[in-house]
Amino acid sequence: MPRKLPLLTPVTAPFWQGGANGMLNICCCAECQHLFHPPAPVCPQCLSPDVGPRAVSGRGEVVSYTVNHQAWTPETAVPYVVAIIELAEQPGLRFLSNIVGTAPADIRIGMPVRVHFEQVEDVWLPLFVLDEAEAQA
Ligand code: ZN
Repeated sequence: MPRKLPLLTPVTAPFWQGGANGMLNICCCAECQHLFHPPAPVCPQCLSPDVGPRAVSGRGEVVSYTVNHQAWTPETAVPYVVAIIELAEQPGLRFLSNIVGTAPADIRIGMPVRVHFEQVEDVWLPLFVLDEAEAQA
């Protein structure tokens, strides 16, 4: 599926390229320890400029999702799942991604997921798959 790739800057590159080393890097404030996304040069909680990437576990859960059946481009494989994922490290630390490897009908809110990187050119897209270990726990 062709995607419009993100613009890489010194602030965003650790997030988009962390997957090269298998790491999901989230912006963290050195002042108040707040994790936030999307990456920004200033902490949204305390306004400190002392922020930088921190590797998180890559585990989280599905907060909400939708199944898209519309092929917006001829190459788009449908259906596909767009989901809001909340990371395990901090309540409210959420971002939008896709869930892959699970039939849309089997996805549930609260389902444990873990990051799964898909490389496209110089970007490692952080997609999510069912976390089977957590699902069976
Ligand atoms: Zn802060």
